[in-house]
Amino acid sequence: MTPRVALIAHDHKKDDIVALAGEYAETLGRCKLVATGTTGARIAAAHGLTVERMLSGPHGGDLQIGAQLAEGRVDVVIFLRDPMTPQPHEPDINALVRACDVRNVPCATNIATARMLLDTLARRMSQQV
Ligand code: PGA
Repeated sequence: MTPRVALIAHDHKKDDIVALAGEYAETLGRCKLVATGTTGARIAAAHGLTVERMLSGPHGGDLQIGAQLAEGRVDVVIFLRDPMTPQPHEPDINALVRACDVRNVPCATNIATARMLLDTLARRMSQQV
């Protein structure tokens, strides 16, 4: 089954997620991608990946992805949070991370963990032929 990967990054982390998506473009290109609005637009524009875009995070995009998690429709989450800047939608962010824990879905909130998750995903996908 094709893994469904959610991609979200706060403003100061957008360059990082775009670079990460470039590094793993081959793997991500074989996944179904869902993202918050601006993050998805940046990744699609930079790498030509097909990304299903939700609303922007502060406008409910995190909650939309959280709802998909609750329904078991997301397999991996890459959520590059900005730990240095307060966010207006902090409750939505917590809800999304909580939904990952409720559903036992792997969630990377920094680049080092994201690389480990994506390396594992790439390896698993190469084993399934
Ligand atoms: P954005 O949302 O990708 O639309 O900027 C991310 C966020 O800030 O939660």
